[in-house]
Amino acid sequence: MGAGQVDLPRALTQLSEDEVMFQGSVREFAADRIAPLVRQMDEAQAFDGGLLKQLFELGLMGIEIAEEYGGAGGTFFEAILAVEAISSVDPSVGVLVDVQNTLCINALNRWASAEQKWRWLPRLAEDTVGAYALSEAGSGSDAFALETRATKRVSDHGHDYVLNGQKLWITNAKEAGLFIVFATVDRAAGYKGITAFVVEQGTPGFALGKKEDKLGIRASSTCELVFTDCVVPAANVLGDVGKGYKIAIETLNEGRIGIGAQMLGLAQGAWGHAAKWAKERRQFGKALIEFQAMQFQLAQMATEIEVARLAVYNAARLKDNGSEFLKEAAMCKYVASEVAEKVASLAVEVFGGSGFVKDYPVEKLYRDAKIGKIYEGTSFMQLATIGKLLLDVR
Ligand SMILES: Cc1cc2nc3c(=O)[nH]c(=O)nc-3n(C[C@H](O)[C@H](O)[C@H](O)COP(=O)(O)OP(=O)(O)OC[C@H]3O[C@@H](n4cnc5c(N)ncnc54)[C@H](O)[C@@H]3O)c2cc1C
Repeated sequence: MGAGQVDLPRALTQLSEDEVMFQGSVREFAADRIAPLVRQMDEAQAFDGGLLKQLFELGLMGIEIAEEYGGAGGTFFEAILAVEAISSVDPSVGVLVDVQNTLCINALNRWASAEQKWRWLPRLAEDTVGAYALSEAGSGSDAFALETRATKRVSDHGHDYVLNGQKLWITNAKEAGLFIVFATVDRAAGYKGITAFVVEQGTPGFALGKKEDKLGIRASSTCELVFTDCVVPAANVLGDVGKGYKIAIETLNEGRIGIGAQMLGLAQGAWGHAAKWAKERRQFGKALIEFQAMQFQLAQMATEIEVARLAVYNAARLKDNGSEFLKEAAMCKYVASEVAEKVASLAVEVFGGSGFVKDYPVEKLYRDAKIGKIYEGTSFMQLATIGKLLLDVR
């Protein structure tokens, strides 16, 4: 800062030079490398293998991993910018990057021991996808009613845990090499029995179950996980035994901002397609954009996207500053999911009949938008969190 200049607080959406450069490079990558693959990946219900490799090479799968472990050494805010930029092109790739960074890497950065960090972070930065397994058939919103059991067993080298049970709806499961799995060591202890384990793909007794055939984000894999007498070393317990609920809650608080960013990107992408179409499509001898009704719809959508952006960026900045962000995280996921669904729906209408077919990208974005109100806590659960925090009710 030059002499005489005042250090004014930055507007929330005002990015530093580094952030602008980073955002630009991710946007360019998404436009050049992801956009041509979107339809094919949606239809194949799988990611392109080459694309996955490029995401690692660009450091996008290890944004917050420190450089000493081979990561990009970036901030949480940068992870949010990346998820937003990628999701504006493909929210399926957006959630792959989001789960890796805001859930898995965040959990390890925060809760892994030094030895565990050296064991897993270099792999996550290099070529290993992570997954985060909390939900079960009987426990979704009521996540801590989970039933997967971890039984302590004495072994030759101390002790280990034997996992039995099933997880449902696990994002990245097909691609993942490392799974953060929540299980209970003591059901009678309620949430105080919940413990987080890192389970490696290929561990005997661990198998993928059914892969879901979904409405949206179809390239992203969502699978059941099955644990049958799966032995996990005690050295793979993340944090303390019985403290898994804290790890789950605190990681999901951060993850919610990531889903907010995914939905924000989706809304921005849908808006961009709608605005372009309105300029090109002619009816009644004019471009659609010349009708004031069309201008108003696009202006209203853009305003709502900006509101969502402020909410998402604010929550991410609070997190990076070490401030409280629980309420803001819930609010930003809630509002960005609402806006994404609304904007994607309007974008389909702006395209008319062409919005209803797969030849144009808005049909997919409309399908993809629905998940924002469901995973990492439904919209009702976000409202419950906001209500509790604001109104001091239980
Ligand atoms: C594509 C996809 C990917 C996912 N990825 C993951 C993942 O990677 N890891 C993971 O652990 N989980 C994942 N999930 C699970 C997801 O987080 C849960 O589906 C979600 O939390 C909702 O749980 P549920 O499906 O059991 O619905 P339920 O909890 O049964 O909810 C059904 C409805 O009841 C409402 N409801 C529930 N309780 C209340 C209440 N107290 N008051 C008012 N309304 C209520 C809900 O808001 C919802 O509308 C994923 C799900 C999907 C669909």
